[in-house]
Parts: sequence; C-alpha cells; structure tokens
Amino acid sequence: MPVIHDITLTISETLPVWPGDPPVQMSQPFSLARGDFCTVTRLDISAHTGTHVDAPAHFIPGGAGVDALDLNVLIGPAWVTAVPDVPEITAETLAALPIPPGVQRLLCQTRNSARWARGETSFTADFTAVAADGAAWLVEHGIRLVGVDYLSVSPYEEVIPTHQVLLGAGVIVLEGLDLSAVDPGAYELVCLPLKLAGADGAPARAVLVER
Ligand SMILES: [Zn+2]
Repeated sequence: MPVIHDITLTISETLPVWPGDPPVQMSQPFSLARGDFCTVTRLDISAHTGTHVDAPAHFIPGGAGVDALDLNVLIGPAWVTAVPDVPEITAETLAALPIPPGVQRLLCQTRNSARWARGETSFTADFTAVAADGAAWLVEHGIRLVGVDYLSVSPYEEVIPTHQVLLGAGVIVLEGLDLSAVDPGAYELVCLPLKLAGADGAPARAVLVER
C-alpha cells in the first residue's frame, strides 16, 4: 500500500480563520444524543476555510470558478521545498531553492507549519507568504499549482498583488496546508476542492502520496 501523507487541516471550531471571515461553526440540527433518529451536522464556513483552493474568480473579474479548475493540475507530481526562515518568499528566495527543472506543482514548507503542529487556535498576521515578485517567478518558471502552509499565499499587509499575478496567470493556489510532518522531496499530490458552482474558492482534501 502506498504511504499517504494527509496535509489537510482539520476543520473544527478552533481552527484559525482569516480576520473578517466567519468563524467555523458546526452545529447539529439532528442529533442521536438528543433523541433524533440520526445525527446531521450543519457547517457554517467561508469558502476559504482551512486547507482550500483559490480560484481565479477570487481576484480576477470574470475569472473561472473553483468548479472549473483543471483536475489534471490538482492531481499529479509535486515537489515539496523547504523554505528558509524568511518573512517573504521572493524571487531571490525561490531562485536559491533546489527545485528540480520541470516541476509544475510546488509546495512551500515554511516556519508556518510549526503553528499547525502546535495546534495554534488563533490567527497570526506574522506568517511567511509569497511576495509579488516571487509570484512572478513562479509564473515565469512554469509553476501551475503553488501550495503554502498558512491561510493566504500573499503577505497579510499586501494581499492583492500576489493573488493577482498567480490567479491572473491561471496558477492554482492551494492555501492552508499542514506540511509539518512531511520531508521535502517528490510526491504525487491529490487535491480535490469541493465543487462549488462559480465559487472563488473551496475547502479541499489534500494528500501527498509517496512515489
Ligand atoms: Zn483563499
């Protein structure tokens, strides 16, 4: 059996959310414990909760929704790269990383993942993210999917440019990964976002299969 690493955050009411997004709420309109004939959970969440994919419609007017994203990009060979302890992943940072030629799916393992390993329950604005020139580097180098290990691919203080560069170029952005328990290297990525009609994003289950 293949070794499968689950790099998905668990959705629960203690999961940090982006400031301004609704907190995760899980309730049970039907409950065996209350004498109902079954248990049914109701979920109130943003489309950008936990491990999730951004679609072009998130920042590009008229852009594609998450239901139109290419499954051939969401599933396939991926490279996990360890990023040194930097506040922003710039073009210079990326150029110095040992990324093999031909990589199309790049997952950036940073200091952020330690927060998930520690089970932190509050949002921090102090996370490592991709700078706008880093986003341009990714596009220029043929990256079709980029994954990051905090809730946004872009720095907290400057959310627009990085998203616009990546989503404008059709790069799939996978956010909120927990890469704390995987080694850098080559894997097979399987990432399946919920099929929400025309939505700007969707939670996803993401796993890395050892090759
Ligand atoms: Zn997002």
